[in-house]
Amino acid sequence: MKVSERDATGVADAEIPRKARDDGGVADGCSHPSPFPLGERTINDAKLDSLVVASASRPEVAAPQSSRGSRLPTKHRIKPMMLGAHCSATRDNNFGIDRAVELGCETAQIFGSNKLQWKPKSYTDSDVQSFREAREEAGLGPIFSHAIYLINLGAKRTKPEIYERSISSLSSGLQICDLLGLDGLVVHLGSNYGLGLEGVIDSVEEGLSRAREDSGSSVPLLLENTAGSSRLIGGRFTDFATVFDAVDDDRMLGVCIDTAHAFAFGYDLTEEAGLDLMLSEIDSAIGLQRVMALHLNDSKVEYGRNLDRHENLGQGHIGYEGISRVLLEPRLVGIPAILETPGFDGAGPDKGNLDIMRSLAGRLDENPEVIAKRAKQRAARKKAKVPVAKRVPAKAAK
Ligand SMILES: [Zn+2]
Ligand SMILES: [Zn+2]
Repeated sequence: MKVSERDATGVADAEIPRKARDDGGVADGCSHPSPFPLGERTINDAKLDSLVVASASRPEVAAPQSSRGSRLPTKHRIKPMMLGAHCSATRDNNFGIDRAVELGCETAQIFGSNKLQWKPKSYTDSDVQSFREAREEAGLGPIFSHAIYLINLGAKRTKPEIYERSISSLSSGLQICDLLGLDGLVVHLGSNYGLGLEGVIDSVEEGLSRAREDSGSSVPLLLENTAGSSRLIGGRFTDFATVFDAVDDDRMLGVCIDTAHAFAFGYDLTEEAGLDLMLSEIDSAIGLQRVMALHLNDSKVEYGRNLDRHENLGQGHIGYEGISRVLLEPRLVGIPAILETPGFDGAGPDKGNLDIMRSLAGRLDENPEVIAKRAKQRAARKKAKVPVAKRVPAKAAK
């Protein structure tokens, strides 16, 4: 098992990192400290130190029953993560909160602004009040914002105009988090323009520092790993060590692990050794306490293909067992896990994916394959626009 070296992949670079996104614990009877305890709505004011302490003092959790032999584990005594999804702001009046409630999320992610526009979204006082009230009422755990896709912090010399806009967008993204009371801003660092990380590290450092300073915000910034290629920053988790070292005074800098990206980059999450390699690498590079969120996605592309193509849970190349292993991983206890899957009906994370996630996390006693089958049937009916009530059973039709 080794992480593939991707320096000669020939995969075309893009100004905008490739996206296939769709717009879009504790053990029973135990009480392991979590960086994001449920009921504590925000960590904006928390010092990273307390996260470190919380993480470091996590007791060892008994490893879950191995899923080896039984392909689809259904019952585990560990409930390690908060489960949630990216919720589209356009579906409801409360910028994603209504959708999160509908899906039964414990944690969520939204876009604070339109993902493909530089101009930040403006919120009226009543928008903000409505969002905060809806969230309060929903009793949701951490909610993250995903930064827009246009940001490129390595662009200082190559594309100065984009660089300035990136900093300004990141700064307003942080301010929106403050406004709405969100718990972190997830961002992709962007391209190194063929210069390698060393060639753009000053650009990245200055960009992160200026955005932080301009925003006046101390909301955690979560750097997300990418699927590759060699021109994108943050495929290997060791890249983040370089960035963290450069920005040594930003203690609210964290990491968001995207499982689909990691798998496509070269961490084989179908194998226990692959997950172990990824987590050990993160631990030695930056420390696992810096992992503040997880994007839980299956991958449409094979291991090491360097393409960012999300798939519904269990329907891609990581598969049920690989996803389940991540969900039950003791080292990820308490981390919010957020779906960014395309959805069985193509409209973003849905009940089918959430239920599969719950099943694979040992929190819903139903076979994930059965859930997936039902979700596919629901999607097919929706597509055919045939109301369920009007469908005549095959036998009766004859
Ligand atoms: Zn992601
Ligand atoms: Zn992605």
